[in-house]
Amino acid sequence: MSDSELIPVDLQGAGDKRGSGSVPVKTLSKPERLKRAWKGAGLCIGLAVVCVFLPLIHFVLVPGFLIAAPFVFSWMYSWERVILPCELKCPNCGQMIKISLNKEKWPFREVCVHCRNEMAVLSSASASENERK
Ligand SMILES: [Zn+2]
Repeated sequence: MSDSELIPVDLQGAGDKRGSGSVPVKTLSKPERLKRAWKGAGLCIGLAVVCVFLPLIHFVLVPGFLIAAPFVFSWMYSWERVILPCELKCPNCGQMIKISLNKEKWPFREVCVHCRNEMAVLSSASASENERK
């Protein structure tokens, strides 16, 4: 995790509630991206093999997983920068909510598990662009 950087973020909750925090972002190297992509594609192929033994639905699931494998591979390979799992403080209720591993994309939205309100997470760079308008 030493090669991850902390990105300061602004949180926009319901109404005018705001907060701030930071999110760890990691840039994946080419071998890391390939490894992740092969894992995803391998999972699809593995599921296809398992589904061979399921009567009737194997006619749909086996080709389905085999067709999905190259799409999963290219989709996972496209993840150059990822947001690592972390916690942010909900601007609506003040509780900590878990952020899961995801492709880096600003802004992104999260729904608080405690108050069910949505919040927008903006990197501080993109937030200052919004305030200039
Ligand atoms: Zn909340």
